[in-house]
Amino acid sequence: MDLELLRHSCAHLMAAAVKRLYPEARFGIGPAIEDGFYYDIEADIKEEDLPRIEKAMKKIVERKEAFVREEWDKEKARQFFSQKKENYKLELIDDIEGDTVSIYRTGEFVDLCRGPHVQSAAEIKNFKLLAVSGAYWKGDEHNPQLTRIYGTAFASREELKQYLENREEAKKRDHRILGRTLDLFDIFHNEAGAGLVFYLAKGAVLRRLIEDWEIREHTRRGYEMVVSPHIMHRDLWQKSGHLDHYAEFMYPVKKENQEFILKPMNCPGHMLIYKSKLRSWRDLPLRIFELGTVYRYEKSGVLCGLLRVRGFTQDDAHIFCREEDLYPELEKVLDFVKDALHTFGFEEFEAELSTRPDDFIGERAMWDKAEDILEEVLKKSGIPYQINEGDGAFYGPKIDIKLRDALKRSWQCATVQLDYSLPERFDLNYHDKDGEKKRVIMLHRVILGSLERFIATLVEHYGGKFPLWLAPVQVSVVSITDEVIDYARFLKEALAAKGFRAELDVREERLQKKIREHELKKVPYIVIVGKKEKEQNLLSLRERGGLDLGQMSLEKCVELLTVKQEVRN
Ligand code: ZN
Repeated sequence: MDLELLRHSCAHLMAAAVKRLYPEARFGIGPAIEDGFYYDIEADIKEEDLPRIEKAMKKIVERKEAFVREEWDKEKARQFFSQKKENYKLELIDDIEGDTVSIYRTGEFVDLCRGPHVQSAAEIKNFKLLAVSGAYWKGDEHNPQLTRIYGTAFASREELKQYLENREEAKKRDHRILGRTLDLFDIFHNEAGAGLVFYLAKGAVLRRLIEDWEIREHTRRGYEMVVSPHIMHRDLWQKSGHLDHYAEFMYPVKKENQEFILKPMNCPGHMLIYKSKLRSWRDLPLRIFELGTVYRYEKSGVLCGLLRVRGFTQDDAHIFCREEDLYPELEKVLDFVKDALHTFGFEEFEAELSTRPDDFIGERAMWDKAEDILEEVLKKSGIPYQINEGDGAFYGPKIDIKLRDALKRSWQCATVQLDYSLPERFDLNYHDKDGEKKRVIMLHRVILGSLERFIATLVEHYGGKFPLWLAPVQVSVVSITDEVIDYARFLKEALAAKGFRAELDVREERLQKKIREHELKKVPYIVIVGKKEKEQNLLSLRERGGLDLGQMSLEKCVELLTVKQEVRN
């Protein structure tokens, strides 16, 4: 069954039910979307009203009301909808080309719609209304705000059930909620500004672990690490073209008569570094890497946890090379991506190759060649891919890589993009073997992408239960009574000396309560010490989730944790 058709029909079914319950309701649009559908409606409807609407929908289904298509001339449609005071529909009629519009009838409910639809409401059996939010008419904040009701429909009861279960699980894994319960990060909208992330004590550890990995891996793979300033003169952004094409996203910083800009991208800085020396073919490929923090003004409506923010850090590199370096360099980048995703515990990912758009710059032959190379490398990498014809930027083709998490949701991570434009603008050259000055080619690439987004991905993928090597606190040492506090402290310090991130909990609380709290914080191991352990110079070890590993010596515990820590996913 065509899911899109089913879901869009279900949106009509919902509208028909709403119209019966709220005769004053006015309707906007009701499309099918990725996981279901929505309908924008002018009516006072709250989340708690959804069951009532579902009930009314079921009645229409039971009556097997037909979806009937009619073709009306525009004048008739205008008269009908203006009589019904359906102002939004009137606007939509004006937007439609031609002299006629198509109309769908479900019982007495009449809707303007292109269709197609199911034949009868009886075909829509497995649906669920999910949420209510606000949405401006036509997405414009100057327009009235409508109520958007989300729902979904599936062909089978099992699929719907699975979907709803995943949705519940996703709610539990929401990084915005886990970010607080696990002391990872917070955003103080009112005090510090929206979209600006604070890493709390535990989150800062997680981030540093990722950064350490980044630095180690980039060094190993022949990247030079640089650090560039956060603000740079406006002239530089003029030259790079950002001021012309990207100004609405940039934060200006004015001081006396000078204007600086908070960097929205790292590329111009890296090009200055490239240009700071004469470069020869012997220096190429030159790979410049930075954990570069950038600031972009995103509209407040699109900000979302760590996924859409106004300040974030990219693992950003620019590779300056010759055409003959393209294949091996791209191959190395894809290898890097695969290694990175495996390391952090992701097994499934897919790529998209975006090719030459209509407004491209450079020569057609050069693009053809570049696209062939990109596709060749993708094929060899074994990463499944699809081609987005004409979707590349005007300055070069690119590969985007998306990973799938434990709930099979797709998240953007790596990108590698060829650039024929900036080397021209910045006059980036090298001296070739034959003594000639030649234009260098530039690759922009990120591996994990925005660290903020990647951390959100990790949190939701693991539901906060990080593998040992990534856990901000690896082991909590918990005392049962006050007599063993010294011994507990000794164990904690011994574990810390061995390089483990250990915490001490000697509060005067019941053991069960302490254990429950460390479980809530999703600490991988809990060391428990009481009188018995102290007397025998042992400790009791408990794994996250409740598995009792029994009593053992400190040496044995260190050995066990060392082995577990080496498992990277
Ligand atoms: Zn770049």
